[in-house]
Amino acid sequence: MTIISNKINAMKILVTGGAGYIGSHSCIELAASNHQVVILDNLCNASPFSVARAEKLAETRFRLLQVDLRDAQAVHQVFERERFDAVVHFAALKAVGESVEQPLDYFDNNVGGSIHLLQAMRAHGCKRLVFSSSATVYGNPDSVPVNEDAPLRVTNPYGRTKLMMEDMIRDTCAADPEFSAILLRYFNPVGAHPSGEIGEDPRGIPNNLMPYICQVAVGRRECLSVFGGDWPTVDGTGVRDYIHVVDLARAHAHAINTLEHAHHAATTLNLGTGQGVSVLQLVRAFEQASGRKVPYEIVARRAGDVAEVYADPQRARDVIGWQATRGVDAMCADAWRWQSQNPDGYISA
Ligand code: NAD
Ligand code: UDP
Repeated sequence: MTIISNKINAMKILVTGGAGYIGSHSCIELAASNHQVVILDNLCNASPFSVARAEKLAETRFRLLQVDLRDAQAVHQVFERERFDAVVHFAALKAVGESVEQPLDYFDNNVGGSIHLLQAMRAHGCKRLVFSSSATVYGNPDSVPVNEDAPLRVTNPYGRTKLMMEDMIRDTCAADPEFSAILLRYFNPVGAHPSGEIGEDPRGIPNNLMPYICQVAVGRRECLSVFGGDWPTVDGTGVRDYIHVVDLARAHAHAINTLEHAHHAATTLNLGTGQGVSVLQLVRAFEQASGRKVPYEIVARRAGDVAEVYADPQRARDVIGWQATRGVDAMCADAWRWQSQNPDGYISA
């Protein structure tokens, strides 16, 4: 498979959603690979403080263009004004429950926004793309670990938008042999930059496990509800493949550097550690890392949940020369540093 050359030329990269959780960490890693980063974000789920702090950590400037991908003309103008060598496309709405209640908003924002982006890229000859997809496209897999050839069966509107965006990119690559794309399917991103300066800052009640644990530990919420204690897993609680956000961010730099030297007609890669961790194992690791108690109670299973999902990450190793290096202890220690230094998120910045 692809061998990455050691020589990496600086590229100018447009990072959509670069002010968000994974995007802000990835901008730092792209800058560390010597690339020039321009962020496009409408700040619908992000704070400009994340960009300012990421700039400080990277010791460079990331220009922030406050543009909405739903505005086709504005997106077109971005590409008219300057030339980009590649795009990393994070911008999307991502809350599963909200997508069930407001499906059209999700199709409009995620699918509609991606159409405008791909149209502008094609019109202006920008032919390299790294795309944020999700393990949610596997739904309830037949077996674990899950590899990229597993059947795709989405179970909610958010997942459907991800699969539609993947399909649009595959079709764009098929129509234009010069268009080159890597589609990254993230498992469960958690943790924060080790400085504690940037991290995940969900609005309202967190949907995901790690931010909920963090808010209980810091005293913003009383008790964690563990969704189900009777799953067919190691201790009866759900098992996932948690991946440190800095490892995930590094994968984007690897993918971009790979696209510089090799053509990829929509290659999909799993990004995970390959290790399954249960809810209670994560709670215990967090208590250890933070020195705080995380009170929990076992409640009914959450609708639509699955017992056990973890990745086979071998293809990412082969294609982009990447593998996760940080374990659960580092994920918890870094998540706690971010949460304890910023108990109310970026609001206190
Ligand atoms: P996030 O909400 O922190 O970041 C997304 C960013 O996109 C935000 O800054 C938001 O303001 C911006 N955005 C949304 N719609 C936009 C629009 N129309 N125009 C311009 N900007 C817009 O989310 P994240 O966790 O960093 O996720 C990044 C990507 O990774 C998303 O595509 C998400 O679906 C995908 N993903 C995330 C997870 C996860 O657990 N965090 C898992 C799998 C996949
Ligand atoms: N979970 C939980 N309580 C919460 C949030 C999540 O017990 O408040 C469990 C959930 O049932 C699953 C695991 O934690 O087994 C990871 O859930 P998350 O929503 O973070 O990721 P996903 O299920 O989307 O992979």
